[in-house]
Amino acid sequence: MEFEPVIGLEVHAQLLTHSKLFCGCSTQFGAPPNSNTCPVCLGLPGALPVVNRAAVAMAVKAALALGCRINPISIFARKNYFYPDLPKGYQISQFDRPLGERGCVTVFSGERTEGGKIANRREKAFGITRLHMEDDAGKSIHEGIPDTSSKSYVNLNRTGVPLVEIVSEPDFRSSQEAYDYLTHLRITLLYLGVCDGNMEEGSLRCDANISVRPSGSDKLGTKVEIKNLNSFRFLQKALDYEIARQTQVLTEGGTIVQETRLWDESEGRTFVMRSKEEAHDYRYFPEPDLLPLKLDPAWIAQVENELPELPGPKMRRFMEAYSLSTDDALLLTSSPAMAAYYEECAKISENPRASANWIMGDLAYALKNAGKDIENSSIPPGDLAALLQTIETGEISGKIAKTVFEEMCRTGDKPAAIISRMGLAQVSDEDSLSAVIDKILAANPKQLAEYRSGKTKVLGFFVGQAMKETKGQANPQIVNELLQKKLSKETGG
Ligand SMILES: [Zn+2]
Repeated sequence: MEFEPVIGLEVHAQLLTHSKLFCGCSTQFGAPPNSNTCPVCLGLPGALPVVNRAAVAMAVKAALALGCRINPISIFARKNYFYPDLPKGYQISQFDRPLGERGCVTVFSGERTEGGKIANRREKAFGITRLHMEDDAGKSIHEGIPDTSSKSYVNLNRTGVPLVEIVSEPDFRSSQEAYDYLTHLRITLLYLGVCDGNMEEGSLRCDANISVRPSGSDKLGTKVEIKNLNSFRFLQKALDYEIARQTQVLTEGGTIVQETRLWDESEGRTFVMRSKEEAHDYRYFPEPDLLPLKLDPAWIAQVENELPELPGPKMRRFMEAYSLSTDDALLLTSSPAMAAYYEECAKISENPRASANWIMGDLAYALKNAGKDIENSSIPPGDLAALLQTIETGEISGKIAKTVFEEMCRTGDKPAAIISRMGLAQVSDEDSLSAVIDKILAANPKQLAEYRSGKTKVLGFFVGQAMKETKGQANPQIVNELLQKKLSKETGG
């Protein structure tokens, strides 16, 4: 029997506000432990929360960008549980009436081939169940401090930082679809400027629900939750492991137990964290210290009007306007900085194809070696465009351009300055090239004889020699023309 996985994701994204969700404390990452705290986020008796308007605006932006319907009235609720990093004894979240519901995203998702490459990318729609706001818990520290062998510490700087939780429908049928969706979600949040998308620092966190069922069945199997998947790679590996594990259990006639599991990277497997019986009962109830969150439809419309061009539409526009393939457009829109760089270079150089090739090839390689991202590239898009123009006009060859590019990376100088300083301009002067060719023909009588006997392929050899003689600076087209002219005289044709 064939089985298919059914996967849904719950993603927590930290909003990029300066202050916390219900108090004025700073959200700065890496501040001295427990310095960004006050009576509100410490949950001291009598302290009252006040909603951060900027956080609501960011959450609304995210919800709209994910196609959600915004509830004009949403309700904050207490999610009760005890944990040392949760001084209030509850998180303020949203339960019955979240900020946004019933969204949908269209993602260019592919299939992973045996070799690990992604093939056959096409548009797939995935449903978003809900997007709600909540405040974050603090952080327990169990290592990195000398006496953590006997003690644990708690840092409450993160307590009260605004989050949105984005819950997808169980729409993914492969780990690759889940991976592509999470990538799309991350990029969308980056475009909106509402989250930095940094999984390592925990500003984007992912839990997955996964079950398997006989292919073609419309009944859902028993699901397992995998928590704290803090990288894209771990998400994919954990899902693949669970698909195989659950399929094997069912194939052998066993049953899947509903439980929460964690991914163990060193052992390459998931293991049980807690069973269904140990699951929390959060005893949600409406937060008595906060009024329902009532949003003015005119304000929602204004936020919607101010949304930037989102990755999906931008990608489709790039494919159309610049004749890019799906894969190239996906890469060139993978961050707002990348998309802006590409578009500027393509416009100035008037050569979208060459711009794409150089950005995805030489520039990407140089940035990787320098440990830089495109936003701090030492070569501005205008300079790369200028280099492409010198190739286009024949001032330098594509090969010489590689040398100029390396020098641009090294010095940060403009291409024109480098070409003139290093004397790299292409030689198109017929007299000097004619002299070079005469010299080569005289120096290679054997090949010349071959040409005369009809082996016209030898022409390529002469062109190569001329390029070598001029250190790659000869204009190959003119060399070709001159050679053909001279050789046709030679052979009397
Ligand atoms: Zn505070």
